[in-house]
Amino acid sequence: MGNVEGKGSLRRRKLFVANWKMNGTTSFAEAYATFFLTHRSSVPPYAEVVFCPPTLYISTLRGIAESGCAFLGVQNVATEKQGAFTGEVSAMMAAESGCQYGIVGHSERRRFYQESESDIRAKILRLEEAGLIPILCVGETEEQRAAGQMREVLAQQLKDVASSASRLVVAYEPIWAIGTGKTPTPAEIGQTHQEMRALLQAQGCSTPTLLYGGSVTAANARDFLVLDEVDGVLVGGASLQETEFLAIIRCLEG
Ligand code: PEP
Repeated sequence: MGNVEGKGSLRRRKLFVANWKMNGTTSFAEAYATFFLTHRSSVPPYAEVVFCPPTLYISTLRGIAESGCAFLGVQNVATEKQGAFTGEVSAMMAAESGCQYGIVGHSERRRFYQESESDIRAKILRLEEAGLIPILCVGETEEQRAAGQMREVLAQQLKDVASSASRLVVAYEPIWAIGTGKTPTPAEIGQTHQEMRALLQAQGCSTPTLLYGGSVTAANARDFLVLDEVDGVLVGGASLQETEFLAIIRCLEG
Protein backbone atom coordinates (compact mmCIF):
# COMPACT_ATOMS: atom_id res chain seq x y z
CA MET A 1 0.00 0.00 0.00
CA GLY A 2 1.25 3.52 -0.72
CA ASN A 3 1.69 6.69 1.30
CA VAL A 4 -0.53 9.74 1.72
CA GLU A 5 0.35 13.25 2.85
CA GLY A 6 -0.40 13.59 6.55
CA LYS A 7 0.06 16.67 8.73
CA GLY A 8 3.63 17.59 7.87
CA SER A 9 4.75 14.06 6.98
CA LEU A 10 4.05 11.14 4.74
CA ARG A 11 1.71 8.60 6.34
CA ARG A 12 1.42 4.99 5.23
CA ARG A 13 -1.95 3.78 3.95
CA LYS A 14 -3.66 1.31 6.27
CA LEU A 15 -6.41 -1.16 5.37
CA PHE A 16 -9.49 -1.61 7.60
CA VAL A 17 -11.64 -4.65 6.84
CA ALA A 18 -15.05 -5.12 8.47
CA ASN A 19 -16.17 -8.76 8.59
CA TRP A 20 -19.82 -8.85 9.66
CA LYS A 21 -19.91 -12.66 9.50
CA MET A 22 -23.54 -13.92 9.50
CA ASN A 23 -24.97 -10.90 11.31
CA GLY A 24 -27.36 -8.10 10.44
CA THR A 25 -30.71 -7.58 8.79
CA THR A 26 -31.77 -5.46 5.82
CA SER A 27 -32.66 -2.55 8.12
CA PHE A 28 -29.33 -2.89 9.97
CA ALA A 29 -27.45 -2.82 6.64
CA GLU A 30 -29.44 0.21 5.46
CA ALA A 31 -28.76 2.12 8.68
CA TYR A 32 -25.05 1.16 8.51
CA ALA A 33 -24.80 2.38 4.92
CA THR A 34 -26.53 5.65 5.82
CA PHE A 35 -24.15 6.16 8.77
CA PHE A 36 -21.01 5.75 6.63
CA LEU A 37 -22.39 7.86 3.78
CA THR A 38 -23.16 10.63 6.28
CA HIS A 39 -19.73 10.30 7.92
CA ARG A 40 -17.68 9.70 4.77
CA SER A 41 -15.72 12.93 5.23
CA SER A 42 -14.56 11.57 8.63
CA VAL A 43 -12.71 8.69 6.98
CA PRO A 44 -9.06 9.83 7.05
CA PRO A 45 -7.02 9.86 3.82
CA TYR A 46 -4.68 7.13 5.18
CA ALA A 47 -7.59 4.65 5.49
CA GLU A 48 -8.68 2.17 2.85
CA VAL A 49 -11.92 0.66 4.17
CA VAL A 50 -13.52 -2.61 3.04
CA PHE A 51 -16.97 -3.75 4.19
CA CYS A 52 -17.68 -7.48 4.00
CA PRO A 53 -21.37 -7.92 4.83
CA PRO A 54 -23.29 -11.16 4.26
CA THR A 55 -23.61 -11.70 0.51
CA LEU A 56 -27.33 -10.79 0.43
CA TYR A 57 -26.56 -7.31 1.83
CA ILE A 58 -23.74 -6.40 -0.56
CA SER A 59 -26.17 -4.50 -2.78
CA THR A 60 -27.47 -2.59 0.25
CA LEU A 61 -23.95 -1.25 0.89
CA ARG A 62 -23.20 -0.57 -2.76
CA GLY A 63 -23.89 3.15 -2.34
CA ILE A 64 -20.93 3.41 0.05
CA ALA A 65 -18.61 1.97 -2.56
CA GLU A 66 -20.10 4.18 -5.28
CA SER A 67 -19.53 7.26 -3.11
CA GLY A 68 -15.81 6.41 -3.13
CA CYS A 69 -15.36 6.22 0.65
CA ALA A 70 -14.96 2.42 0.90
CA PHE A 71 -14.77 -0.85 -0.99
CA LEU A 72 -16.86 -3.99 -0.75
CA GLY A 73 -15.73 -7.54 -0.08
CA VAL A 74 -17.34 -10.95 -0.10
CA GLN A 75 -16.82 -13.26 2.93
CA ASN A 76 -16.41 -16.45 0.91
CA VAL A 77 -16.60 -17.72 -2.68
CA ALA A 78 -17.00 -21.11 -4.33
CA THR A 79 -14.00 -23.19 -5.38
CA GLU A 80 -15.68 -23.61 -8.79
CA LYS A 81 -16.31 -21.01 -11.48
CA GLN A 82 -19.99 -21.84 -12.07
CA GLY A 83 -22.44 -24.70 -12.44
CA ALA A 84 -24.46 -27.14 -10.35
CA PHE A 85 -23.23 -26.11 -6.90
CA THR A 86 -26.43 -25.27 -5.04
CA GLY A 87 -26.03 -22.55 -2.44
CA GLU A 88 -22.62 -21.37 -3.61
CA VAL A 89 -21.69 -17.88 -4.85
CA SER A 90 -18.93 -17.46 -7.41
CA ALA A 91 -16.11 -14.93 -7.36
CA MET A 92 -17.36 -13.59 -10.68
CA MET A 93 -20.83 -12.94 -9.16
CA ALA A 94 -19.18 -11.09 -6.26
CA ALA A 95 -17.19 -8.96 -8.71
CA GLU A 96 -20.33 -8.22 -10.72
CA SER A 97 -22.09 -7.16 -7.49
CA GLY A 98 -19.45 -4.50 -6.87
CA CYS A 99 -16.91 -6.32 -4.69
CA GLN A 100 -13.20 -5.62 -5.03
CA TYR A 101 -12.02 -7.96 -2.24
CA GLY A 102 -12.77 -11.50 -1.07
CA ILE A 103 -12.00 -13.09 2.30
CA VAL A 104 -10.66 -16.62 1.99
CA GLY A 105 -9.62 -19.25 4.53
CA HIS A 106 -11.24 -17.64 7.56
CA SER A 107 -10.76 -19.95 10.56
CA GLU A 108 -14.55 -20.38 10.84
CA ARG A 109 -14.63 -21.71 7.25
CA ARG A 110 -11.66 -23.97 7.92
CA ARG A 111 -13.22 -25.29 11.16
CA PHE A 112 -16.99 -25.46 10.55
CA TYR A 113 -16.93 -26.25 6.81
CA GLN A 114 -13.74 -28.34 6.70
CA GLU A 115 -12.12 -26.04 4.14
CA SER A 116 -8.83 -27.58 3.12
CA GLU A 117 -5.60 -25.89 2.04
CA SER A 118 -6.34 -26.97 -1.54
CA ASP A 119 -9.89 -25.49 -1.39
CA ILE A 120 -8.34 -22.26 -0.15
CA ARG A 121 -5.82 -22.13 -2.99
CA ALA A 122 -8.60 -22.80 -5.51
CA LYS A 123 -10.61 -19.93 -4.03
CA ILE A 124 -7.61 -17.58 -4.25
CA LEU A 125 -7.35 -18.44 -7.95
CA ARG A 126 -11.09 -17.90 -8.50
CA LEU A 127 -10.85 -14.49 -6.80
CA GLU A 128 -7.90 -13.46 -8.94
CA GLU A 129 -9.54 -14.64 -12.17
CA ALA A 130 -12.52 -12.44 -11.26
CA GLY A 131 -10.21 -9.47 -10.58
CA LEU A 132 -10.78 -9.52 -6.81
CA ILE A 133 -8.03 -9.05 -4.22
CA PRO A 134 -7.83 -12.07 -1.88
CA ILE A 135 -7.73 -11.47 1.87
CA LEU A 136 -6.26 -14.74 3.11
CA CYS A 137 -6.75 -15.49 6.82
CA VAL A 138 -4.18 -17.56 8.66
CA GLY A 139 -3.54 -18.28 12.33
CA GLU A 140 -2.79 -20.88 14.95
CA THR A 141 -4.95 -22.41 17.68
CA GLU A 142 -4.13 -21.97 21.36
CA GLU A 143 -2.94 -25.60 21.53
CA GLN A 144 -0.64 -25.18 18.52
CA ARG A 145 0.83 -22.04 20.07
CA ALA A 146 1.36 -23.76 23.43
CA ALA A 147 3.04 -26.68 21.64
CA GLY A 148 5.45 -24.32 19.88
CA GLN A 149 3.96 -25.17 16.44
CA MET A 150 2.89 -21.68 15.44
CA ARG A 151 5.63 -21.06 12.84
CA GLU A 152 5.07 -24.47 11.26
CA VAL A 153 1.29 -23.88 11.06
CA LEU A 154 1.70 -20.45 9.47
CA ALA A 155 4.29 -21.75 7.01
CA GLN A 156 1.85 -24.49 5.95
CA GLN A 157 -1.03 -22.05 5.57
CA LEU A 158 1.15 -19.65 3.55
CA LYS A 159 2.74 -22.30 1.31
CA ASP A 160 2.25 -21.63 -2.43
CA VAL A 161 -0.38 -18.95 -1.89
CA ALA A 162 1.41 -16.16 -3.70
CA SER A 163 2.33 -17.91 -6.92
CA SER A 164 -0.08 -15.96 -9.08
CA ALA A 165 -1.36 -13.25 -6.77
CA SER A 166 -0.84 -9.78 -8.19
CA ARG A 167 -1.95 -8.23 -4.91
CA LEU A 168 -2.33 -10.39 -1.84
CA VAL A 169 -3.66 -9.38 1.56
CA VAL A 170 -2.92 -11.76 4.43
CA ALA A 171 -4.65 -11.39 7.79
CA TYR A 172 -2.84 -12.94 10.74
CA GLU A 173 -5.73 -14.01 12.97
CA PRO A 174 -4.69 -16.24 15.88
CA ILE A 175 -7.78 -18.39 16.45
CA TRP A 176 -7.55 -17.98 20.21
CA ALA A 177 -7.83 -14.19 19.76
CA ILE A 178 -11.00 -14.21 17.62
CA GLY A 179 -13.99 -12.97 19.61
CA THR A 180 -12.29 -13.69 22.96
CA GLY A 181 -10.96 -10.29 24.04
CA LYS A 182 -7.46 -11.79 24.09
CA THR A 183 -4.72 -10.59 21.72
CA PRO A 184 -1.01 -11.20 21.19
CA THR A 185 1.20 -8.30 22.29
CA PRO A 186 2.09 -5.73 19.61
CA ALA A 187 5.70 -7.01 19.75
CA GLU A 188 4.52 -10.57 19.06
CA ILE A 189 2.39 -9.39 16.15
CA GLY A 190 5.28 -7.36 14.72
CA GLN A 191 7.59 -10.40 14.90
CA THR A 192 5.01 -12.74 13.32
CA HIS A 193 4.33 -10.25 10.51
CA GLN A 194 8.06 -10.01 9.78
CA GLU A 195 8.27 -13.77 9.49
CA MET A 196 5.16 -13.99 7.31
CA ARG A 197 6.48 -11.23 5.03
CA ALA A 198 9.72 -13.16 4.57
CA LEU A 199 7.81 -16.34 3.69
CA LEU A 200 5.69 -14.49 1.13
CA GLN A 201 8.64 -12.63 -0.35
CA ALA A 202 10.42 -15.95 -0.84
CA GLN A 203 7.44 -16.91 -3.04
CA GLY A 204 7.85 -13.78 -5.15
CA CYS A 205 5.13 -11.70 -3.47
CA SER A 206 7.30 -8.66 -2.83
CA THR A 207 4.78 -6.36 -1.14
CA PRO A 208 2.04 -8.33 0.60
CA THR A 209 -0.41 -6.31 2.69
CA LEU A 210 -0.37 -7.80 6.20
CA LEU A 211 -3.29 -7.29 8.57
CA TYR A 212 -3.79 -8.25 12.19
CA GLY A 213 -7.21 -9.63 13.24
CA GLY A 214 -8.59 -10.87 16.55
CA SER A 215 -10.45 -8.83 19.22
CA VAL A 216 -9.51 -5.46 17.68
CA THR A 217 -11.47 -2.62 19.28
CA ALA A 218 -11.28 1.17 19.35
CA ALA A 219 -9.36 0.82 22.63
CA ASN A 220 -6.49 -1.31 21.24
CA ALA A 221 -6.41 -0.68 17.45
CA ARG A 222 -3.79 2.06 17.66
CA ASP A 223 -1.37 -0.23 19.56
CA PHE A 224 -1.30 -2.53 16.51
CA LEU A 225 -1.62 0.03 13.72
CA VAL A 226 1.33 2.18 14.81
CA LEU A 227 3.60 -0.77 14.00
CA ASP A 228 5.40 -0.51 10.66
CA GLU A 229 4.89 -4.25 10.13
CA VAL A 230 1.08 -3.93 10.38
CA ASP A 231 -0.63 -2.66 7.21
CA GLY A 232 -4.13 -2.77 8.67
CA VAL A 233 -6.69 -4.67 10.71
CA LEU A 234 -9.49 -7.16 10.10
CA VAL A 235 -12.33 -6.49 12.51
CA GLY A 236 -15.19 -8.86 13.35
CA GLY A 237 -17.42 -8.06 16.34
CA ALA A 238 -16.41 -4.40 16.68
CA SER A 239 -17.22 -3.71 13.01
CA LEU A 240 -20.92 -4.30 13.77
CA GLN A 241 -21.08 -1.02 15.70
CA GLU A 242 -20.72 1.82 13.21
CA THR A 243 -19.32 4.34 15.71
CA GLU A 244 -16.82 1.82 17.11
CA PHE A 245 -15.62 0.85 13.63
CA LEU A 246 -15.30 4.49 12.61
CA ALA A 247 -13.29 5.11 15.81
CA ILE A 248 -10.98 2.22 14.83
CA ILE A 249 -10.53 3.72 11.36
CA ARG A 250 -9.71 7.12 12.88
CA CYS A 251 -7.43 5.83 15.65
CA LEU A 252 -4.23 7.12 13.98
CA GLU A 253 -5.48 10.68 13.63
CA GLY A 254 -3.83 13.51 15.48
C1 PEP B 1 -12.68 -12.37 12.75
O1 PEP B 1 -13.49 -13.25 12.97
O2 PEP B 1 -12.12 -12.30 11.65
C2 PEP B 1 -12.37 -11.42 13.81
C3 PEP B 1 -11.29 -10.71 13.72
O3 PEP B 1 -13.28 -11.36 14.85
P1 PEP B 1 -13.21 -10.43 16.15
O4 PEP B 1 -12.75 -9.06 15.73
O5 PEP B 1 -14.63 -10.41 16.67
O6 PEP B 1 -12.26 -11.07 17.09
